[in-house]
Amino acid sequence: MNTDLAWNHLRGLTPLSLCDWPGHPCCVVFLGGCNLRCPTCHNGGLAWDMERQPLITQATLRAFLSKRKRWLSGVTVTGGEPTGVPGVGAILHELAVSGLPIKLDTNAMLPEAVELMLEEGLVSLFAVDVKGPFAKYPALTGGAVDEAAARRNLSRIFALAEKRPEAFFFRTTKVPLLDEHDIDTVRGMLPAGFSLTTQDFKPPRRPDALTDTEARRTTGNLVN
Ligand code: SF4
Repeated sequence: MNTDLAWNHLRGLTPLSLCDWPGHPCCVVFLGGCNLRCPTCHNGGLAWDMERQPLITQATLRAFLSKRKRWLSGVTVTGGEPTGVPGVGAILHELAVSGLPIKLDTNAMLPEAVELMLEEGLVSLFAVDVKGPFAKYPALTGGAVDEAAARRNLSRIFALAEKRPEAFFFRTTKVPLLDEHDIDTVRGMLPAGFSLTTQDFKPPRRPDALTDTEARRTTGNLVN
């Protein structure tokens, strides 16, 4: 596979986050593109119009990690939807070279990609967004996922989580389309032993991500 395809999705880098991976000061890598069309998306520019977002080069990411990894205890990979990036393994391998564990945020609608990453040991922790009850997926995803597909895909993810509980956690954002009964329904969908993390909905905004030029400034004089 042409790995340039994957690297073309690298559209943001936050040097330090204390909240994306609780207990792990981490950098955050943003990969553009998404298979869903959630009307409440907080990051539509990155999800649906990534070509207009500044590109971060592989060399910039490598130099950043080389210089900053000693201050970090992990990398969060987010999007968009990272599992939908063609050849995303190339980026994960580059991150793994740093020796830092990787947490990856996913909407769970491409379970075969999650399975592969788990098998290859590329990701330590999957943060899975459960959008809501299965029946609300069409409304929650802008019509991208019907109820049956939501049930099928999440069931595969839940089965993986039952086998590897240490590698998953589940969360739901309390968007306006959901009420407390829906949140209880989601809790009841999870495999035994898992609790649901909920987060309040915040109006859409662009993430505090660095452009390539800003990343260079942060890390010193990096060479392409
Ligand atoms: S899955 Fe996430 S990134 Fe994709 S459209 Fe929905 S909220 Fe946006």
